Amino acid sequence: MTDGPTYGFDTLQIHAGSRPDPATGARQTPIYQTTAYVFRDAEHAAALFNLQEVGYIYSRLTNPTVAVLQERIATLEGGAGAVCCSSGHAAQIMALFPLMTPGKNVVVSTRLYGGTITQFSQTIKRFGWSATFVDFDDLDAVKAAIDDDTRAVFCESIANPGGYITDLKAIAKIADKAGLPLIVDNTGATPYLCRPIEHGATLVVHSTTKYLTGTGTVTGGCVVDSGTFDWSASDKFPSLSAPEPAYHGLKFHETFGPLAFTFHGIAVGLRDLGMTMNPQGAHYTLIGMETLSLRMERHVQNATELAEWLEKHPAVEAVTYAGLKSSPYFKRVKSICPRGAGALFTVALKGGYDGCIKFVNALEIFSHVANLGDARSLVIHSASTTHRQLTPEQQTAAGAAPNVVRLSIGIEDVEDLKTDLDRALAASM
Ligand SMILES: *Cc1c(COP(=O)(O)O)cnc(C)c1O
Repeated sequence: MTDGPTYGFDTLQIHAGSRPDPATGARQTPIYQTTAYVFRDAEHAAALFNLQEVGYIYSRLTNPTVAVLQERIATLEGGAGAVCCSSGHAAQIMALFPLMTPGKNVVVSTRLYGGTITQFSQTIKRFGWSATFVDFDDLDAVKAAIDDDTRAVFCESIANPGGYITDLKAIAKIADKAGLPLIVDNTGATPYLCRPIEHGATLVVHSTTKYLTGTGTVTGGCVVDSGTFDWSASDKFPSLSAPEPAYHGLKFHETFGPLAFTFHGIAVGLRDLGMTMNPQGAHYTLIGMETLSLRMERHVQNATELAEWLEKHPAVEAVTYAGLKSSPYFKRVKSICPRGAGALFTVALKGGYDGCIKFVNALEIFSHVANLGDARSLVIHSASTTHRQLTPEQQTAAGAAPNVVRLSIGIEDVEDLKTDLDRALAASM
C-alpha cells in the first residue's frame, strides 16, 4: 500500500508494509522460506554488496517476509525504519551495539523485565559495557548518573512486573540535553497504547514474543529507529558517523540519513551478530498484529475491571495496576498511554508465600507460566520461580515480594476470569 499518514491504526496494523505478492498475487504475505536470492547478474551482485542498491542477498540479513513485519512495526511506532531479530533480548543488544564500545555505559531504570536486569547487570560486562541502575522517578538521580562515557538511556514504557509507567517526556528531555539517545522497551504497552517516539524516544525495542504476536507461539524482537537523532553532532557514535572499514570507508549517517541506524543494524548488526528473525516467526507475528488494537482494547478493559474488583477483595492486600485511581501513576496514564495502562500488574495476597502457592495451584483458566502478553490469562509467582535465587529483601525491591503474584490479563470472558480468581483467592486464605 502507498504511504498513508492519513490511514488509521486499525488499517495500518493490517496493511502497512504488505502488498499483493508480485509473482502470484497472493493477498496474504507469503512465507519466503529461502536462504538466498539469485542475482540478476554480476554487476547487480556487486552493487548489493557495496550497499549501492537495496535488495535481497541472504536471509541472515534480509528476507521479504521479515521485511514486511519491519515496515509494519516501524509504521505503527511512527519510526523511519526497523530491524527485526530473534528475540526481545536480541533486540536490546542490537539497539546498544552501534552505540557502545568497551568502557561505555548505559543509564537504565531499576524497573525492568527480570531477564533484562540480568542481561544489563551481568552479561553485557563481557563486552566491556556496563549499566548504571537508577530510580527513573528521581529525575535528578537520572541526570547525575549520566557521565562522559554514557552512550544511551534505557527504560520500559509500562514496566514489568508492577505496571509502573515511566514519565517518558521528562526522561527524553534529560537524554536530549545530554546529547544521548533514549531507548524505550515498549513491549508492555505496544504502539496501540503508547508511542514512545512521540514522547521523544530515539529508539524503541520490542519483544514481539508478547502482545504483538499475541498467541504465545514464537519468540522475536524488533528495534525501531525514529530517524531523528543526529549521530554526527558529537564524536560519541563513530559506528554511525565515522568511516566503516568493512564497507570501504562508507559513513552510515552521511550516506543513509534517517535510515542510518536501520542500515547499520542490517549491514553490520545482523551480518556479524546473526540474531536474525526467521520468516516463519515473522509470519505468525504478522498474523497476530492484524488484531492488535482489538486485543489491546479487551486486555485493558478486562485488566481494569479485574484490578478494581481485586482491590476490594478480602483476600487481597494490594494491587499495583496504574489504571486504578489509587495508583501513584494514574495521572501518568493519560499523558503517556492515553488508551490505557496495559494488562500487567501484581497482586499482594494476605495469605503470604504459602497463600500464593495455593492460589497459583487452584487457578484453572490462568496458566502458571514465565510469559506475558498472550491472549490467554497468565500468572506467575515470581518468588518461587524467576526470582527464587534472591533474598526476600531483593525480591521485595524487585516488586516480587514473597506474597506477590503477577497477572497478565488475557482477553477471555471477564466473568469467567473473575470466577477463576475468586475460587483461587478463597483457597489462598
Ligand atoms: C519478554 C520481555 C523481554 C525479552 O524478550 P524475549 O522475546 O523473551 O527475548 C524484554 N522486555 C520485556 C518488557 C519483556 O516482557
